[in-house]
Amino acid sequence: MPRRALTLLAVVLAVLSAAVPASGLERLKRVTDRFYFFQGDFGNPNSGVIVTPDGLVLIDAQWSTAAAADFLLEIREVSDRPIRFLVYTHAHADHISGAHVLARGATVVASASTAREMEERGRETIETLKERIRNQADDLPLVLPALTFTERAVIQVGGVEVILIDAGRGHSWGDTAVHLPAEGILYAADLVATNRFPWIRDSSTREWLAALSRLSAGAGGSIERVFPGHGEPGGAASIEKTKRLLKALRREAGAAIEAGLSSVEAQRRVRLAEFSSLDNYEFRLPPAVGRVYDEMESEKEGIAPGLPAPAPPAERPAP
Ligand SMILES: [Zn+2]
Repeated sequence: MPRRALTLLAVVLAVLSAAVPASGLERLKRVTDRFYFFQGDFGNPNSGVIVTPDGLVLIDAQWSTAAAADFLLEIREVSDRPIRFLVYTHAHADHISGAHVLARGATVVASASTAREMEERGRETIETLKERIRNQADDLPLVLPALTFTERAVIQVGGVEVILIDAGRGHSWGDTAVHLPAEGILYAADLVATNRFPWIRDSSTREWLAALSRLSAGAGGSIERVFPGHGEPGGAASIEKTKRLLKALRREAGAAIEAGLSSVEAQRRVRLAEFSSLDNYEFRLPPAVGRVYDEMESEKEGIAPGLPAPAPPAERPAP
């Protein structure tokens, strides 16, 4: 066979044998030998993969059947080991809806408060997500955790210690971070903002600040890299940056209340100069101000903004 034909045949075979995700993108990036980070495109949710000789631990389940299938294809490029555990960082639909693709044969783990939020409104938030992704609106079954924990749990797989820190209520009804102490890695999910303005619709910013302190304390200083639930990875400083953002929001919303502004006026006027370069700043700041305004009004009246969240999010759930 002429050489050119052989080369062509080799190329065709290579293309046929390569598992190319439907998106055509390769988003699963090696961070260390043990940890891979899957960054969603266009701010879609991220996920993590912990690789051990005895199997895999996945963090978060993506937001649709197709997104989870793409994630799984990329996982299989890296390891053919079984998926032992799937950890949910929180109950928002965009982090759990692909679990039926990923969790076959795996144990799904979440904090007790995440499990409770899923039981109480998981179905409802998935239905709202389905409206948002009409072109992929297949059946998205709610996969509840089989194993729940409070405060702290340790998963030992293949000699790797994976620590789950239940940071408590904050961004959602209950947020979990995944800590790999030996790698200096903290997967903090939606508790931490790096390059994107956070989603603050059903959050309690007062408790979120406490949750971030619990995260730092729980990880005991062993944090070099922080992985958010959306957007780019960051360093340990992204925890402090998120605290500054939440404090600035509370300061400005509190000042608006003191000045007698209505929530709508506050949403129109409040600006946070330090954070104006974050993705989605213009679009997410006003509803965040509205949420914090309501939260601080309740605090003033002595209504604890704890569980359950005051009302289901008025807007579409997710990121
Ligand atoms: Zn979220």
